[in-house]
Amino acid sequence: MMYRVTSFVLKIASRCNLNCSYCYMYNMGDQTYLKQPKFMALETIEIFAQKLKEYCESMKLEFAQIVFHGGEPLLAKPDYYEKCVAIFKNTAPELEFTFTIQTNGVTLDQNWYSLFKKLNISIGISIDGPEKYHDEYRIFHNGKGSYTQVAEAIKLGNKNQLAGVLLVVNISIPVEELYTEMKNLGVARLNLLLPDGHHDKPPFGIDETQWKNKNYAPFADWFISLYKLWKKDKERPGIYFFETLVKMIMGEEGIGNQLVGRRTNGVIVLESDGSIEVVDSLRACFEGITRNEINIHNNTLEDLFENDTFQLYYKAHDKVAEQCLNCPVYDICGGGFLGHRYSEENGFDNPTMYCQDMVRLIAYIQNDILESLPDEAVAELNIERITYEEIINGFEKENELKIDPEVQKELASFKKELQI
Ligand code: SF4
Repeated sequence: MMYRVTSFVLKIASRCNLNCSYCYMYNMGDQTYLKQPKFMALETIEIFAQKLKEYCESMKLEFAQIVFHGGEPLLAKPDYYEKCVAIFKNTAPELEFTFTIQTNGVTLDQNWYSLFKKLNISIGISIDGPEKYHDEYRIFHNGKGSYTQVAEAIKLGNKNQLAGVLLVVNISIPVEELYTEMKNLGVARLNLLLPDGHHDKPPFGIDETQWKNKNYAPFADWFISLYKLWKKDKERPGIYFFETLVKMIMGEEGIGNQLVGRRTNGVIVLESDGSIEVVDSLRACFEGITRNEINIHNNTLEDLFENDTFQLYYKAHDKVAEQCLNCPVYDICGGGFLGHRYSEENGFDNPTMYCQDMVRLIAYIQNDILESLPDEAVAELNIERITYEEIINGFEKENELKIDPEVQKELASFKKELQI
């Protein structure tokens, strides 16, 4: 089978000038970054660009998204980016490239903005919220917080071409405080991510005594409060997560990402030594899950398609637990991000650990859309009112649709007892 991959994350720097306390790369036991070269060699990028060209030719793809990532990608020198962009354009002039960089923003000044404008690289900055929350976790190696520098970079971005701000949700931040902060910083586009975690490792902010309670959905409660504020704000910023859910509920096709929806996950990661891997946020599941022997110096991109983890990740929204197949909001939720489904006992044969949150949030937004639209518009939508309780209670009934035994075997093959 051929896999359609259009997004390529290049870990061009393996080190970071911050030392965020929750970082899966540096502070969750995985020390493999120490064996990686500090920067991806330009020769590695040349080889990658050539193999990318060959892959796109064989797949008849006309475009590719290149994401410069790290570590912290701004640890590289400005002329590194000039050379990288030139390599891609010279190697594959027939391809339409979209270049993006995801940075912590602490050294992002006007010179960088001007350079990225010239090179047509769109910029995303990560922040953790208002100063007191941000500075608790996003700290320099000397322990000092990085909020001041990041806030400056965001404000400067408003006069330049900042594409958006990325925030990993911290439910201990009061929603009003966060929203006011984003408005004060002038954020035009906000992208929200659910924190890493799975069934054996609750994410930050969760009340573990309530975790298995049927009514406990703290992330949904937090998101719903934010959604209400956002909806009534006439000058609201774009919030990609909400916009995606609204579009999917309204029936728009081809929407989704690794977190929600039913699309395939066409993303590959190139590590700084040339290793080709599946997205590294899966590393929060268990040590070595993304590791393999595939390297761009010796292999083609297609060699990753033989890898078990890649095969499951690519079709993660189709290869779901039986409960998801029978869930009324499956087409919107898609069973969640693969990494959030993991448990030692079942491998990936679970709904996402955010299942209750997704049910409550999707039900809320769907019902809100139904209430907000005139009757004629509602009649054209193929959706109806749904309730959290009905869906959650439905999970206790016998499943009508049965899971394909081959899919179940594949999901369960990542169980702790079967890991090599
Ligand atoms: S809400 Fe739960 S059961 Fe439904 S698709 Fe998502 S993870 Fe699966």
